[in-house]
Amino acid sequence: MSTVYQHSTLAALMGKVLGGSATLAELKEHGDTGIGTFDGLDGEMIMANGEVYYMDGEGTIHHVTDMAKTVPFATVHHASDSSEKVKFRAGNMKEMVSLIDDRELENTFSGVILQGSFAYMKVRSAPKSERPYPSLSEITKTQREFEETNISGTLIGYYSPELYQGTVAAGWHVHFLSDDRTFGGHVLGFDADKLEGDLTIFDNYELHLPIDNKEFREHHVDMDGLKEGVAAAEGSQD
Ligand SMILES: [Zn+2]
Repeated sequence: MSTVYQHSTLAALMGKVLGGSATLAELKEHGDTGIGTFDGLDGEMIMANGEVYYMDGEGTIHHVTDMAKTVPFATVHHASDSSEKVKFRAGNMKEMVSLIDDRELENTFSGVILQGSFAYMKVRSAPKSERPYPSLSEITKTQREFEETNISGTLIGYYSPELYQGTVAAGWHVHFLSDDRTFGGHVLGFDADKLEGDLTIFDNYELHLPIDNKEFREHHVDMDGLKEGVAAAEGSQD
């Protein structure tokens, strides 16, 4: 059995529930690999080999050693879970999308850990928000984008089926961390010379809810606005 573990929901983030509600220590009980964001939708989180990295709103990467630091949203898994090797001669976001079609993964939760050298990488990161929290679409307007060329590193990403739209952003959600630990973030686009690594098809999707969090308990999910909101907040991944 392989499990992907998710803390909180995208709908909660869209409902301005941005305060940290799980510690990194708690997350690490469920995986050594993953992605997310920090308290106040503060930057981007990537966990690789059990080590946690934080890309701040200015684009600087920090190695996080304080496992009491909290996250409002994250997805993790154990890299040792059953997986198969995948290889792309050339790689970009479109190929990751075709991976889903080629292997009939449309209705699965899947994850990748892919190493590569990238001719181009474009990421984004948002500065920390303070209460009263703004909406995700407002944050999207202030987040910064960063580009790098000729950089090697690792992509960690998760695919979620359309069926779960709102619980999570359906499709791929991918973060990047450079080998030299100086560049990374939420991936908007890339162009890789070659990509290879592990694909895991999860047969178990574990959703953990922050039931002790007052803001989570009080938020109301606007189902009508959810789909358009997800598209606006997550942006294009082509
Ligand atoms: Zn992200």
